[in-house]
Order: sequence, then structure tokens, then C-alpha cells
Amino acid sequence: MSVKHHISDDFLIDYASGSLSEGWSLAVASHLALCPECRRRLSAMEGAAGALLDKAGDSLNEDEAWARFKSRAIDVRVDEVKTAIAAPGSTAVLPEPLRSYLGGDLADLKWRALGRGAYQILIDTKDTETQVRLLRIPAGKPVPEHTHVGRELTLVLAGSFRDGDDLFARGDIEEADGDLLHTPTATEGEDCICLAVTEAPLKFSSWIVRMMQPILKI
Ligand SMILES: [Zn+2]
Repeated sequence: MSVKHHISDDFLIDYASGSLSEGWSLAVASHLALCPECRRRLSAMEGAAGALLDKAGDSLNEDEAWARFKSRAIDVRVDEVKTAIAAPGSTAVLPEPLRSYLGGDLADLKWRALGRGAYQILIDTKDTETQVRLLRIPAGKPVPEHTHVGRELTLVLAGSFRDGDDLFARGDIEEADGDLLHTPTATEGEDCICLAVTEAPLKFSSWIVRMMQPILKI
């Protein structure tokens, strides 16, 4: 089954240039590991940046220097992803960038109950900008209610979910905005396992602001 929902240009360009924080990068890299089409898009960006540099010659202005930087960043990351997916005969459910973070594949994971049959594993990153978690949603059930501000990336690793008219299966990635009210629901027949990256809630030092945070949804 081929991937139908891809990462946006904005995320892919930021990933390629190395300006994406660790949490978002993990979601993009995991999608790339499962999606030949986006690996081609990334390579095309690399080619475009390279061609630009050839024309620029030695007299680089600021824009050209930036392009050179970008093309270098792309080189490194494409190689990383290629190495990650080259593992022969792998039957792993989790793509390599994720297995490294979690210390194994599905059988090795220690899930924590979220209630209503759902489970999660929080994934540690050095990134304070995002929250990264693996979610297991029971077949036929909605993703537990969660509030988040800003962007959210959800990558399906096993099973599938529906969000409105759209079906998301293995490899598909959904990009959502915090303002959007959506209730993804796992399809019948198989639990849905996905990687979810959300923008971390802002941390306030004042206890009264912290107390008001859920009410004000900030
Ligand atoms: Zn893709």
C-alpha cells in the first residue's frame, strides 16, 4: 500500500536545512523512512540547491552561502535516512530513527495506560519545543482527548485511523493545526499505533498562570 498523505514542503525544507527541532525532525525522518516519494522530493531539493551553487561560483553572497549550507545539511540527512532504510530483510514495524529512540521494536516497548484502552510512550528528546509520544489506540476507538497549541504531526506506523473523510494508513502523516477541532478514530480490525509530535505547551513560572493555562488554552 502506498503512502497517500505526505509531509508538507514547509516541514521538508526546514528538515533539509537543519532548522527543524529534534521532535519534528524525528517525525519527518520516520515518514521519509516509509515514503519513497518524499525521499525523491528531498533528493530533488538537494539537486536544486547543488545546481544553484554551481552557478554561484566563488563569489557567494549571503543567499548563496545559505544555499550552500542547506545543500550540505541535505547531504548529511539523506545519507542518514538511506542508511537507516537499507537494513536488509527488516520486518520491523518501527522505522529506524524511532527504534533508536525507543531501544527496540514493538515487542520491546513498555506502554503506559492512558485510559479507555489507549496507551502511550513518551519519547525523550533534548528538544523543549515539542512533545513526542507513541500512541496505541484500540481498534474502532477515538484518539483520547488531548489539547495542544500550534502544530501537530501524526505518523501512522500500524493499523489506520480516519479523520473526517480522510483515511490514514501506515506511512501516512497528518499535519494539523491546534485551532482545528478533530477527532481521529482508529479503524476497526486493528489497533492503530502512531507517532504524535505536538508543540509543547508554553511553560510559565507563575503558579497562577500555570493554573489558568488549561482554561485559557495557552
Ligand atoms: Zn511522503
